[in-house]
Amino acid sequence: MVDTVSLREAFAERFGGTPQLFRAPGRVNLIGEHTDYNDGFVMPAALEFEAQAAASVRDDRIIRIHSLNNGQSAEIDLSAAGNTPRGDWTDYAFGVAVMLEAAGKQISGADILVSSSVPVGSGLSSSAALEVVVGYTLLSLSGHAVDTVELAQICQKAENDYVGMRCGIMDQFISCNGVHDHALMIDCRSLERKPVPIDPKARIVVANSMVHHALADGEYNKRRNSCEEGVRLLTPALGDIAALRDVSFAALEENRDFLPELTYRRCRHIVTENERVLTAAEVLERGDLEAFGQLMNASHASMRDDYEISCAEVDTLVDIAQNQPGVFGARMTGGGFGGCVVALVAAEAVDGFIENVRVAYREATGHTSDIFACAPQDGAGPLDQ
Ligand code: ADP
Ligand code: MG
Repeated sequence: MVDTVSLREAFAERFGGTPQLFRAPGRVNLIGEHTDYNDGFVMPAALEFEAQAAASVRDDRIIRIHSLNNGQSAEIDLSAAGNTPRGDWTDYAFGVAVMLEAAGKQISGADILVSSSVPVGSGLSSSAALEVVVGYTLLSLSGHAVDTVELAQICQKAENDYVGMRCGIMDQFISCNGVHDHALMIDCRSLERKPVPIDPKARIVVANSMVHHALADGEYNKRRNSCEEGVRLLTPALGDIAALRDVSFAALEENRDFLPELTYRRCRHIVTENERVLTAAEVLERGDLEAFGQLMNASHASMRDDYEISCAEVDTLVDIAQNQPGVFGARMTGGGFGGCVVALVAAEAVDGFIENVRVAYREATGHTSDIFACAPQDGAGPLDQ
């Protein structure tokens, strides 16, 4: 990540002129994993890690983009018919441009330089940060007011239909709507949101396992299919259910014979995880950090055993984290098969936690974890100059 002076200079060197600056954060999910595409509940927070864009408007309909992260440039002509995905990083950016237009937002051409501090492919949502910063930039440069709920929906559509990743709405929604010092309880069906303050006695700490297993995307789509199968097979017994969000744990248990064993376990993760998020919001609000931590631990066990989206390195890291002094709870965060772990840690224990976890994880796996304490940030917007 570069500072704003360097960002401006890099823009001037590549495209010329004086840019406007925008930002969109990555996120960490405290609890509620894979519940978003089941119309359920999630509780993420936006991070200090963010994608930044320096951009200026053009008088044609060409969008030129350059990423300082990979050193690559590309362009798209919005007036040309049949813009199709290229199968690389530019799909996240150009997909948003195409979907903005499809949603009826006419956008101007632009020169955009992006630089992101969100670790790529680590479960902290560098993809949503890139989408949202590009969307925010294009809307602003084209003179549109930004509706952050609508922008999240458009960015999700870009990732679903242009990139081809069937993600839920959590990542884009929190990048658009994060609240400083708060986690955000999101109802992914109604898109109602409620900021929940993080008790200053605790810190959110993120530890990167430094591994990422390649099966993530395929397995993600398989999990979605299992959830859809669960809804289909439970519908005759339960009547009109639109998503697993509509199934209580009691109803699932009563009707488990309708489900193949594996589908039942996939559904059990979603149904219990939804209930955990609802409880987590209540206990966090009344400052019961112990109870919140227990829910995080239970969430990890459910992801590991029922949803089977963890991996050996992440389980090791979670186990180490859960057993440190001053820790309320820890779990994997993000889509799975590697990536990051999130822990809630007593403020005074954070330094020791970071040191101990780094040493123990290195001894156990040979990987040196990046570990950092985070303070939740606001969602996307202009970057203070
Ligand atoms: P995550 O969102 O967890 O970081 P994803 O696999 O969903 O992981 O998204 C990572 C992809 O997003 C990268 O492979 C790259 O294509 C794209 N990406 C994200 N940020 C940038 C950036 N600053 N410059 C170029 N590509 C980026
Ligand atoms: Mg992503």
